[in-house]
Amino acid sequence: MSISENLLRIKNNLPENVHLVAVSKTKPVEDLMEAYHAGQRIFGENKIQEMTEKWEQMPKDIQWHMIGHVQTNKVKYMAPYVNLIHGVDSLKLLIEINKQAKKWRRVIPCLLQVYIATEETKFGLAHDELLQLIHSDEFKALENIKIVGLMGMASFTDNNDKIRSEFQSLKDIFDYLQPYQLSNCHFQQLSMGMSGDYQIAIECGSTIVRIGSSIFGSR
Ligand SMILES: *Cc1c(COP(=O)(O)O)cnc(C)c1O
Repeated sequence: MSISENLLRIKNNLPENVHLVAVSKTKPVEDLMEAYHAGQRIFGENKIQEMTEKWEQMPKDIQWHMIGHVQTNKVKYMAPYVNLIHGVDSLKLLIEINKQAKKWRRVIPCLLQVYIATEETKFGLAHDELLQLIHSDEFKALENIKIVGLMGMASFTDNNDKIRSEFQSLKDIFDYLQPYQLSNCHFQQLSMGMSGDYQIAIECGSTIVRIGSSIFGSR
């Protein structure tokens, strides 16, 4: 199956309200262009330098999503163009994103990454840290970022019940936070689900799936 066939097969089976991020990390620009010509306009990368090189080379109607862990000192490279940062997990990082966004007179949309897996290695905020962050005065003063939702990753396991309960726990937090609205914070998007688990994620209420290997092949 070609990249465009993979893409269209997946896309045609997604519910209408679910956005597809084509995760193109490590893949060459030619592969991304094949997806682009098949209609894909949202691409996800996990390294800022690689994403910036691709942004420079590719058509300007593409939306670039940063899905990886973000180092504070690299935010400046993506600040002019990034459309959504999925993996925000600290106030310190938000303050830097806000500062860089201000230089470009932009508001950068972000998702807060929540820790839902039982694995030690997964990044993200615990539930209480998340609440503490969004209720802090420092957060409320940030005018050049907007929190538009949450992101999470389930454990890497073939136990579907475990994956489902982790996604469900994120959906519960999302539902709990939805009534909470500030000028820089409005929970509308829920980014969860990758190649191996996106169907479960959609059943649990995902609105953004991040799919790489099922489109572009294994890395
Ligand atoms: C690589 C990656 C994906 C896509 O993974 P696949 O299993 O290839 O679909 C999704 N989300 C994040 C955060 C990733 O790093």
